[in-house]
Amino acid sequence: MKAAVLEAFGEPLVVREVPDPALAPDGVILRVKATGVCRSDWHVWSGEWKNSVPGLPHILGHEMSGVVEQVGSAVRNFKPGDRVIVPFSQGDGVCPHCLAGHQNMCDHLQMPGFTYNGGFAELVHVPNADRCLIHLPDDVDFVDAAAMGCRFMTAFHGVLRQGEVRPGEWVAVFGAGGVGLSAIQVAVAAGANVIAVDISPEKLAFAREMGAVETVNSREEKPSRAIRRITGGGAHVAIDALGIQDTCTNALLSLRKRGRHVQIGLTTYENGGRLELPVNFIVENEIRMCGSFGMPIPEYDALLQMVARGTLKPGRLVTRTISLEQVAQALQDMSTFAGVGVTVVTEF
Ligand SMILES: [Zn+2]
Ligand SMILES: [Zn+2]
Repeated sequence: MKAAVLEAFGEPLVVREVPDPALAPDGVILRVKATGVCRSDWHVWSGEWKNSVPGLPHILGHEMSGVVEQVGSAVRNFKPGDRVIVPFSQGDGVCPHCLAGHQNMCDHLQMPGFTYNGGFAELVHVPNADRCLIHLPDDVDFVDAAAMGCRFMTAFHGVLRQGEVRPGEWVAVFGAGGVGLSAIQVAVAAGANVIAVDISPEKLAFAREMGAVETVNSREEKPSRAIRRITGGGAHVAIDALGIQDTCTNALLSLRKRGRHVQIGLTTYENGGRLELPVNFIVENEIRMCGSFGMPIPEYDALLQMVARGTLKPGRLVTRTISLEQVAQALQDMSTFAGVGVTVVTEF
């Protein structure tokens, strides 16, 4: 099969022939139809997260949809021809967290494109398929589905389950990249008033298209002050979709008393996984702060219902579709945070 192969960190991916994946009894082989290019791919490609892959050469790509081509002998829920989404956070289904319905917190988490070869390829093998694949409704296309493998589902879980966003609340979303734009759409669909915060006028304009009712350019105005003014006292929920010191601190300080902060963005390599927190503000205002990582399998049902009925439109985030040959350039372009919206590979 053809694949865009990571042969050296920070160097352009090499498109070449590689052996087809081997089928395990509990796995399926998919013909990939769409794979999103995500900032997490960039983190691995650049070498920042080099320890999250088993070694090189490796095939990245973890926001996938496709069609089942071969099915292992032990698989019961899927057959050739089935259309599927591949969630990036895959539980083993048998540890205490999986049994409690929190597959994204599995003790033995597998992630396509990270722990095994991913979707920048014609074919991909997904192990433990009965527990880790989602059937895609006929009326949802593959491009819509790709984002539901990572960014869109991450936002859905973060906004609705972790953030518990309710109708009429003010929600401030920091960072209008893929996850941030997804979070805006989900919060708007939940009935919230959304304020988007970013440093790029183009990204803020796109955030308005996703339904944000207000935008704040944090280069022009202190976001916590702007959000207090707009909301008359602070946001009910703040979402840090980026994970740098500025966005984390400003998100927290933009909250009203008893506000909720959802941390979705992971920190950069330079931060070493740590950021400073305004502890006194958190204590004195009874701020609740929680993390959000991926999404458990049971929440897909609600997400897919909203997508199938057109309440949520993950495909609207997609501003560019590309071929496998163009992935290398797309990753390099991410180094400067250039471009608006999401890029998806649709030609393999
Ligand atoms: Zn991703
Ligand atoms: Zn588990």
